Amino acid sequence: MNVGDGPVRTCIACRQKADRSELTRFVFRPDQHPAIVHDVSATLPGRGAWVHPVEKCLAKARTAAPFARAFRTKITASDLPRQDTEPKENG
Ligand SMILES: [Zn+2]
Repeated sequence: MNVGDGPVRTCIACRQKADRSELTRFVFRPDQHPAIVHDVSATLPGRGAWVHPVEKCLAKARTAAPFARAFRTKITASDLPRQDTEPKENG
């Protein structure tokens, strides 16, 4: 199988390898809140975690366990990146 010569990353949700251009990046920044931010342009410093930009993988990543494993730290729900599409709770 020809993998090509591009940088390959592993999706933290499904653990399948993919070209980084096929994945979306999140970075862990413990001094920020939420600590995990969606690095849309893939340029932020810090440790990165890669996820397929599909609901199946994003939903699994939001369980926090894949991020905790990727960043080797404890992740709580409040550390997870906010979803723009999620309805607000209590206004
Ligand atoms: Zn995936």
